[in-house]
Amino acid sequence: MRENKWNIFRRTTSVFLMTALILVSVGCGDGSDETEDVSGTPGGGKWVDSDVIGVVGAKDNIRLQDDFAAAANKDYILSAVIDPAYEEASIVLDASKLIYERCMAIASDDTMTGANAEKYKSLVKLYSDWDERNKLGVEPLKKYISDIQSISSISELTDYQGSLEKNPFGLGLLIPDSIGPQLQFPDKSTLNLKAPALSLGSASSYVEYTSNTLAAKERCDDVIGYYLGRLGFSEKEIKDIIKGNYRIETYIARNSNMDYFGVREMITQAQNNREGIDALQGGYPLLQILDSRGYLGCDSFYVDYTYLKSLSGIYSEKNLKDIKAFLIVHTIDSIKYLLDRESYEKMVALYNPSTGSQEGLSDGQCSVLFRNDMKICGFLPLLDTLYLEKYFKDSKKTDRVEEFTDALIKVYSQILDEEDWMSEDTKTAAKEKLQNMALHLVKPDNVADYSAAEIRSYEEGGNLVEAAAEGRRMLEAHRAAISKNPDWDRFKWDIYDTGKTTTEVNCVYYTGENGIYIMAGYLAMCDAAFGEDASLEQFAGIVGTTIGHEITHGFDSNGTKFDLYGRQFDENIIPIDWMAVQDRSKMDEKASKLAGYFSLARPIPGMQKVNGNNIKDEAIADMGGIKSVLYVARDLPDFDYDEFFRAFARQYAQQTTKESELGTMRGDVHPLPFLRINIMLQQYDEFIETYDIKPGDGMYLNPEKRVNVW
Ligand SMILES: [Zn+2]
Repeated sequence: MRENKWNIFRRTTSVFLMTALILVSVGCGDGSDETEDVSGTPGGGKWVDSDVIGVVGAKDNIRLQDDFAAAANKDYILSAVIDPAYEEASIVLDASKLIYERCMAIASDDTMTGANAEKYKSLVKLYSDWDERNKLGVEPLKKYISDIQSISSISELTDYQGSLEKNPFGLGLLIPDSIGPQLQFPDKSTLNLKAPALSLGSASSYVEYTSNTLAAKERCDDVIGYYLGRLGFSEKEIKDIIKGNYRIETYIARNSNMDYFGVREMITQAQNNREGIDALQGGYPLLQILDSRGYLGCDSFYVDYTYLKSLSGIYSEKNLKDIKAFLIVHTIDSIKYLLDRESYEKMVALYNPSTGSQEGLSDGQCSVLFRNDMKICGFLPLLDTLYLEKYFKDSKKTDRVEEFTDALIKVYSQILDEEDWMSEDTKTAAKEKLQNMALHLVKPDNVADYSAAEIRSYEEGGNLVEAAAEGRRMLEAHRAAISKNPDWDRFKWDIYDTGKTTTEVNCVYYTGENGIYIMAGYLAMCDAAFGEDASLEQFAGIVGTTIGHEITHGFDSNGTKFDLYGRQFDENIIPIDWMAVQDRSKMDEKASKLAGYFSLARPIPGMQKVNGNNIKDEAIADMGGIKSVLYVARDLPDFDYDEFFRAFARQYAQQTTKESELGTMRGDVHPLPFLRINIMLQQYDEFIETYDIKPGDGMYLNPEKRVNVW
């Protein structure tokens, strides 16, 4: 999986806080001892951090043999247009912009017909018409706030939480979140319930106040005050609502413990059937709320018992006012991006990297915000469906992915077989895990059907918030339907699962599923870099290596802890380990050699070194990705290795600021892009031979010192 700094805002504030904490805890040590001997370190002193803006200049004569990343991507680096909001240029961002253009093209494509396309077009019209959005101002928010204000008893509060009409965004003290696996039963699914996201981010923010907590609080108070102020609430009323919300959120933070659960607690303290939940829920009418939202018939629930039991302590008339305040705050949080331009720009300024100018949103920002807004509106499944319909009409692109993945799986079996450090039993188990890996390629197993969604235009009295409410109801109706279907196959790729959206520029391996997801959005990387007629080598360099990367995650230090079904424990809660003890310790040894090599790198002179332990699993995956493609290439006649290696380098082409690069080093589990190119490639004979790399060249690594695990 890849993470980008411009993706961060889509997660909750906890990510901001966490990143900041990491900054604090790793910020010291490792100073600037410039006299250090660099021989034997990655690059041997001949690499520059070519990710950083200005490091590579037009006149620099860099040989491919000395610094492949800088030399192969020089043309990209010199012509890169830096996005002002993210201070970045990258193929990932280029792909994101390309997908945005395509999504917009769907909305104006007359050949896209049918109920689904019409609903999407109506939504985009509501979304894009700023004149109408401005005319309505914050008015669309009013109805939802009034519905909460009018609650006058606990039983009305229960009705509200259960109502899809009044509470379409699914707010409450314990909310249905997703359908997931039952941890010890590989073929059974469960309804995941969770405590609501908190305004200040993580639960720990409510126990111990830090400067970050205070900053988050200031921002949250600002947002609530702004919207309620515009709706005509008095200062005193606003203060009371903010206070009431924090009282409830503090209670939630103190009683919800799920984030700290180990696997054992997950099984013994969270998984239950309807009867069990009935016995645990006490004075909190969880089942009643769920049933009126459509979950009647669901018999498997995943919920933190302690938290569920604690809710009886707060669900009373005495706390009604505070719970209402909590609901008002969370309604604003759900709708805050869906109103007029003034409020939108305020939210962008508060929650996103700023463009630092008066020119409004950058292109990159528009593309990222659009997807975020579609997600809030509950329309990502529909967008994914239409994207596949328009851009994957013929099967050429998917065929290529399928064929390549099949070839990778085949050679991977050979790679595992050839590992002489592994015992025969472990090899057999590894190959079994490989064969059982669920391959989710480009297209989810179902398509979304939004034909029943009622989307009214502005002329008909509709607005974007109403459309979003409808979109969220569509999502929840689907979740409720599958929650009670005992035959629902959790290994299927559900297009309604917005955590796995195929229009995202990403690919993922899920340890808990032993499954890879290759998103259609990732194929746009190849389109963005080379156009739609990319050669097989270019495809292999970008998409092929990434498919191999995800497969390898099943066999990295963490991935190997999960079995062929994605389990760590069996039905009797006995830990499962398919690796023999001596094989695991050999693998650990190899992984720490890899981490040690990375830790010698100091990308920016005078600044900190790489922390190899942080990035080792991703590095293992990168190397496995390249190796498996090189194995596939052996059977491809006239395979152009130069084109392949250059495409691999182009995948990670990036320009960013020094500060951002240092931040990535501290907080990201992926190695820096230029190291993903240089260190990964120097492990392989085919690379060394293609460019005639010799001892003394920056890219040379003595074969005995190679660090690839697979
Ligand atoms: Zn990865």
